[in-house]
Amino acid sequence: MTAFEEEWHVVEKKVSAQLSAGRFQHCLRVADYARRLAQENGVDENQAALAGLVHDYAKERPVEDFLTAINHFHLDPDLKNWNRAIWHGVVGAEMIQDELGIDDPAILAAVRLHTTGAGVEMPTLAKIVFMADYLETGRDFPGVKEAREITDKSLDRGVFYQLQHTLSFLAEKGNVIYPKTFTSYNDWARHFA
Ligand code: GDP
Ligand code: FE
Ligand code: FE
Ligand code: FE
Repeated sequence: MTAFEEEWHVVEKKVSAQLSAGRFQHCLRVADYARRLAQENGVDENQAALAGLVHDYAKERPVEDFLTAINHFHLDPDLKNWNRAIWHGVVGAEMIQDELGIDDPAILAAVRLHTTGAGVEMPTLAKIVFMADYLETGRDFPGVKEAREITDKSLDRGVFYQLQHTLSFLAEKGNVIYPKTFTSYNDWARHFA
């Protein structure tokens, strides 16, 4: 086994132990999709696959764990006013470093940004995980085929497509929207204007 295969094996077991079967399978599909997007966009494939594998590691943690971690890691106290949808990326990245021993700052940044996206300065690996999460082969929403085609042509266009559609979807449902989701959208809207 290569060093990567050994690391993968150890991490995979730890991720699997934290998640329902369905969400764990989602993580494996995100890893596969991220590997392919990495190949097409000149990013290290193993790095992208590992980021995909761990991206939802914290998604099923109890609220208490997140509140404790926000204190423990000295994160912005305003995070306490949000919920698991936001925490599992931003706070999850700290848990992944702490509990899985993953120190690669690019992987941790990709996890941190995978729900809200970021502006045009978003690192390529983070764009890849953001899009793989949205487009993995188990996803089936109106427009997913178009979103996959756009992303194959341009990763950046894909990121903007997702931000535009997620923002509309959340607003349509009357959900509260995290400010970072807005600023990510605005930055890309300006970029493509
Ligand atoms: P998942 O973890 O694989 O389900 O995917 P994500 O981490 O990308 O998203 C988790 C959930 O958060 C999805 O239902 C998104 O629509 C939702 N979400 C994304 N941005 C925001 C936001 O700004 N506010 C809220 N409330 N939800 C958001
Ligand atoms: Fe997620
Ligand atoms: Fe996402
Ligand atoms: Fe996910």
